[in-house]
Amino acid sequence: MLFTPEILPELIMAVKKVIHDNAEEVTTLDQILGDGDHVTNLQRGLDALEPLSDELSQTDWTQAWQKIGMTLLSTMGGASGSLLGTLFLSMNKASLQTDQLDQQTMTEILSQAVDAVKKRGKSDAGEKTMLDVWIPVIDSMKKDTESQLTGTTFFDNINQTAITGMEATREMLATKGRASYLQEKSIGHIDAGAKTSQLMICAVVDVLKNQSP
Ligand code: ADP
Ligand code: MG
Repeated sequence: MLFTPEILPELIMAVKKVIHDNAEEVTTLDQILGDGDHVTNLQRGLDALEPLSDELSQTDWTQAWQKIGMTLLSTMGGASGSLLGTLFLSMNKASLQTDQLDQQTMTEILSQAVDAVKKRGKSDAGEKTMLDVWIPVIDSMKKDTESQLTGTTFFDNINQTAITGMEATREMLATKGRASYLQEKSIGHIDAGAKTSQLMICAVVDVLKNQSP
């Protein structure tokens, strides 16, 4: 597995599509636990990224993460805008000047970026947020990379872990973000940010899996 930023336009399109296809369902989730704007926030960010696709595909990863992070941060708004912006800006910080990404580098970069999101959100696993998808996904990537699992198995494990993490938010008590205002009433519903994170991760993984030799 070795990817260059040339894959970015296809990834952005895949992510836009999966968010569009699930917009209603996610909006309902954020209406129950939050203020209902999560998909609109995300779509604003994705709409701003799309016209940058060509430019992004011709740069290196370090600059691409920076551009994506700044774009999300300046267009999305909401808690998720600051957290997803932080994710990509931290990938930029963690990134070596590299054109090609392999499994190990990707795992290291994402792991540092998710740590930065935890700091930014002052939150951790088990608080019913997007981190309940991101943290187990990183753990799965690290574990598989350490045991030299690659290819389809590596990608399938990411997808399965993201789905399990998203589902697990249903029974959690929200202790961060707007959902925490609901206290016990937050139990019984999936977190919107966990749902979109799972959808985006699975969409990206499906593209990468098909591109892998
Ligand atoms: P807002 O809550 O400001 O309206 P969004 O609706 O765009 O922002 O995003 C809400 C999502 O952001 C939640 O579903 C949750 O996954 C995530 N979130 C909110 N606060 C935090 C936090 N402190 N740490 C991690 N994720 C958070
Ligand atoms: Mg909201």
